[in-house]
Amino acid sequence: MAERKAPRGVERRLEHEGTLVRMGGGLAAGLPGLLTEAGIGAGRVLVVADAFLVGRRALDVVLDALKGAGIAAETAPGIAGEPKAATVDGLAGRARTFGAEALVAVGGGSTLDAAKLAAAVAVRGRAIDYALCASPLPADALPVAALPTTAGTGSEVTRTSVVSDASGRKLWAWGDGLRPRLAVLDPSLTASLPPDLTLWTALDALSHAIEAATHARRTDRAVAAALEAAAMIVASLERVLDDLADLGGRADLLWGSMQAGRAIDLAGCTAPHALAHALGSLRPAHHGRLVALAHDALMAPNVEAAPGLFASVAGAVGTDAEGLPGWFSDLLARTRLDRGFGGEGLGAGAVVAAMLTPENRPMLAANPKSYSTDELERLVAPLLAA
Ligand SMILES: [Zn+2]
Repeated sequence: MAERKAPRGVERRLEHEGTLVRMGGGLAAGLPGLLTEAGIGAGRVLVVADAFLVGRRALDVVLDALKGAGIAAETAPGIAGEPKAATVDGLAGRARTFGAEALVAVGGGSTLDAAKLAAAVAVRGRAIDYALCASPLPADALPVAALPTTAGTGSEVTRTSVVSDASGRKLWAWGDGLRPRLAVLDPSLTASLPPDLTLWTALDALSHAIEAATHARRTDRAVAAALEAAAMIVASLERVLDDLADLGGRADLLWGSMQAGRAIDLAGCTAPHALAHALGSLRPAHHGRLVALAHDALMAPNVEAAPGLFASVAGAVGTDAEGLPGWFSDLLARTRLDRGFGGEGLGAGAVVAAMLTPENRPMLAANPKSYSTDELERLVAPLLAA
């Protein structure tokens, strides 16, 4: 892994498990050169973008750059909300019909996830075939260039795609074949993100960092990436919320969320993500907001069970392990996170049952503390009443 740190505003570059990561203000306009640098020699590309971006500057910059370089680009119908397996199959069909040699994904985590899986489906099978690793991913999936417009999921460097089936159940696909070949982090693409999404996505990334640093299968590289992520996100989040046009702060949030993505790619997520997925499957709300609420509910018992494990991440955000749960609650209060969950009529038992599904169990198993069902129900109940 080649890594070079640079002061804010200056370009940064690293390689992560076959993904070239480039960051810099305005880099999206140089996409064709970056495709070449990443070894993607495509003459025809399918562009997959958030529905919200169609007709907006962030996407036009990318389309103009491709056109200027003589690359034929077709824009697929925009992705709205969390992608369905059928949407991914549709994108793959479109890529085949157009003869796309690569996919360019511009958007939030949902769009990046959809494009990553569509690049595999374009070669073989249907999205559902790859859910929960039922079938191996093709080794010759189309290459993907990911240009995130939110600083949160880290999907631009992970080998995971989350899509839902027709009934809304989340299907995880996972494997090296899903890694983007190129990640372009251009803070100007995130400049128009409103305050609530800026906050929710940053809290998601911070949660990835905390969970990866304390994961049962953490490695030194995962912890190093997680600590850099936590420190950068915490140092820049409130500054960006005060001034949404602060591109230096936006750049730090993007780099931090990418490092947090690397950390979960190298280690994984723990119980707060299992709880957030369970909550989201019962009462849909933004993933980042639910993860923050889940952390707030579980951090004190997690830290109490394994204070030594949390010491490094606490140090990275400027506190100690004992102070970490209070520090996190204060952060949510200062950033005015909406704590309302709307859990009326929902029992803690149903939420905990949803945490114990096969897709959530590995996250519980990797958590620093092992919880009994009763304990989880007690911890979840106050959250539902908010
Ligand atoms: Zn997350």
